[in-house]
Amino acid sequence: MNDLCPVCNTGTLAIQVAQFVFSHNGKQITITDEKTICDVCGAVSYAGEQISRHELAVAAKIREVEGLLSAESLRHIRLKYKLRQTDLEAMLSIGPKTWTRWERGKVPQSKTADTLIRVLADAPEVARRLMQQAQIDNPDAAEVFAAIDEDTKRIAEANLRCQIGRSAMNLNPGDLAQRAIAAVRKAQLERGVEAA
Ligand SMILES: [Zn+2]
Repeated sequence: MNDLCPVCNTGTLAIQVAQFVFSHNGKQITITDEKTICDVCGAVSYAGEQISRHELAVAAKIREVEGLLSAESLRHIRLKYKLRQTDLEAMLSIGPKTWTRWERGKVPQSKTADTLIRVLADAPEVARRLMQQAQIDNPDAAEVFAAIDEDTKRIAEANLRCQIGRSAMNLNPGDLAQRAIAAVRKAQLERGVEAA
């Protein structure tokens, strides 16, 4: 970069990597980022791609400090259910393009939204309920939920067969059902955690 400084019209601009301190929820947060500095008057600016990288770095640091899901995780969760960005905006009652901004990484989601997203990531039933409530017509997502239903049935059935095989003499339907439900919950939780 050998451009002339637009402030003093004398110095040349160079890239400087330095600490940047900002305040978030009353906390002082420091990141390291790259900016443009004049070697004569010292004017500092963010040029071109530096602006976007600065925004991404600030948002990523806020996510880290607040313990929020990363932008990549949001994308992963959405794709797990084959939902569109607009679907999640309707499901979570957030404004248009809000999910898109979160997923692009430039804006961090709120702690409240983060909590709900974690729950729907772990529990497909919650995701399906939110989708139904928002009256979303998404055949791809519907297929994912149908596959989860199939899986659930298969797991419950396998568990029941196993229990029946083991205790043929002393069948207790309530106990069998409880164990099958526990097996399904365990499998769903494992699948959710793995996918998120
Ligand atoms: Zn200058």
